[in-house]
Amino acid sequence: MSTLTSSSADLFEIRRSDTPRPQAERDAALAAPKFGTVFTDHMARVTWSQAGGWHDRRVEKYGPLLLDPACAVLHYAQEIFEGMKAYRHADGSVWTFRPQANAARFAASARRLALPELSEADFLGAVEALVATDAAWVPSGEEKSLYLRPFMYASENFLGVRPSLEAEFLVIASPVGPYFAGGVKPVSIWVAQDYHRAGPGGTGAAKCGGNYAASLLPQQEAYAQGCEQVCFLDAATSTLLEELGGMNVFVVHADGRVSTPELSGTILEGVTRSSIIQLLTDAGHEVDERPLPLAALRAGLEDGSVAEVFACGTAAVVTPIGRLAGTDFDLAVGDGQAGAVTSRVRSELTDIQYGRATDRHGWLHRLV
Ligand SMILES: *Cc1c(COP(=O)(O)O)cnc(C)c1O
Repeated sequence: MSTLTSSSADLFEIRRSDTPRPQAERDAALAAPKFGTVFTDHMARVTWSQAGGWHDRRVEKYGPLLLDPACAVLHYAQEIFEGMKAYRHADGSVWTFRPQANAARFAASARRLALPELSEADFLGAVEALVATDAAWVPSGEEKSLYLRPFMYASENFLGVRPSLEAEFLVIASPVGPYFAGGVKPVSIWVAQDYHRAGPGGTGAAKCGGNYAASLLPQQEAYAQGCEQVCFLDAATSTLLEELGGMNVFVVHADGRVSTPELSGTILEGVTRSSIIQLLTDAGHEVDERPLPLAALRAGLEDGSVAEVFACGTAAVVTPIGRLAGTDFDLAVGDGQAGAVTSRVRSELTDIQYGRATDRHGWLHRLV
């Protein structure tokens, strides 16, 4: 386990809300949280200007942001974000998972979007200061957690096209239960043929709002086709599987080998993805990162050499895929139910996150 060393939490001024929600209201919100709809009493915030650097580290009352209509982010989408969770363990302590990886990815996203980089110390400091202040909002119980959403946006009021000279970094927090209504059950996937989320040299490897904006119309198309999620192919050849709008994908072969698309520059490098590669490798699976042709996956589903397909990400953890469809195919994955490898790796990961299994890779970071 890592300690609180490289964090600037002590530099955050805590300005407590004068109107925190009463305990009864909070308990009701924690009982059955719907993803991303309820937020805690506070938010962490740090302001940046080119002249003054990062300054004014604080935790303040959660509330609306006042934006000038000329605020840069509203026009040119110079914005990045992260997604993490705080987990309550049986002894009451609160932990997060590999936050240094999120801090590093946030810095990489900032570079790609020409935003200022935030140090790992400030990234962790903001998360620690917020969760310490709103610790009562971390739910306990199966599959529940406090979802953390760090984000940064260009805040200069200016319509010219150049990187903003001002930015705001915030962390907001939302108690959550299972991501998909209905819990862990296999989802159906629509493979988009006409739309892509990322192209070579674009922003696919950065976690930015614009990538999500581009994925919404194809997601609607998936719904219209009777599927719950969309999977994108590479923009250059439209033949290789990349990922879902917000989750990476894995294919489990009948012989136990596991494949996931290689990081080609157009795929988001998931923290869950890298953790799962490690856990599967620990369990004796051969895991390869390589180009994954849709044609090979279709053939494998048809002849049974592909046994399981699953998606993964912080919000939904591990989600079995039971059906894969496109304009000219509609295939069941195995018997359409969650496979054994998928279920096992999901349990192994959540057991570590919730403190039910030994954290043998030092992935947990204590918050409270
Ligand atoms: C956030 C995200 C993921 C999952 O990343 P995790 O670090 O595992 O949460 C996968 N794909 C995209 C496009 C994402 O934005």
